[in-house]
Amino acid sequence: MRLVFLGPPGAGKGTIAAKAKLVYSIPHISTGDLFRANIKNGTELGRRVQAILAAGDLVPDEVTIDMVRERLKEEDALKGFILDGFPRTIAQADALGAMTDLDRVVNFVLDKEDIVKRLSGRRVCKSTGRTYHILYNPPKVEGIDDETGEALIQRDDDKEEAIRNRLEVYEASTAPLIAYYRDKGLLVDIDASKSPDEVLSSMVEALV
Ligand code: AMP
Repeated sequence: MRLVFLGPPGAGKGTIAAKAKLVYSIPHISTGDLFRANIKNGTELGRRVQAILAAGDLVPDEVTIDMVRERLKEEDALKGFILDGFPRTIAQADALGAMTDLDRVVNFVLDKEDIVKRLSGRRVCKSTGRTYHILYNPPKVEGIDDETGEALIQRDDDKEEAIRNRLEVYEASTAPLIAYYRDKGLLVDIDASKSPDEVLSSMVEALV
């Protein structure tokens, strides 16, 4: 199964992808996670993109496309994948179309008020990338990752100013992909306002 997860920041793409990868036995490839890993490891790419991520802007297309092209060549992605957070522009979508066919594009639909609520309550385990929400998906112990026991943090780009910018960037650059993939007959709309397990099961049903 070759899937793209589309939708505004905070719609739960990463949370659902972490569960869906187990359902379909395919890797979850998040460009945001790949950039954050590069930043954490202090790579050349990480240094280049650090300020862009903190501001909530988009990394240039060529950089992002090259990174995804390399990732899709890895063994585990040959049998399928979930792309989460890519493509985010028409140019990225065109480049992806030249790399591989897709089975479906899942569009996670959530209204603006809910997006802001979700993002501002999001907490992350820095080493694993696992995400929680202080109200909707809390860890077993407040502020602590369930598995590693590490302290959870708030991403820089989940702070208010960056959230506003990310939503503007989404509307301007990424939302046009909804029509792009609808025209290709690939789009499946999923109501993302429910709990993660409910969203997952409605998606799995819709993809049969
Ligand atoms: P995410 O974790 O998907 O919200 O991504 C976090 C940040 O990584 C975004 O706000 C962008 O700065 C950068 N990023 C992730 N994916 C892309 C992409 N496909 N194109 C450009 N920038 C991206």
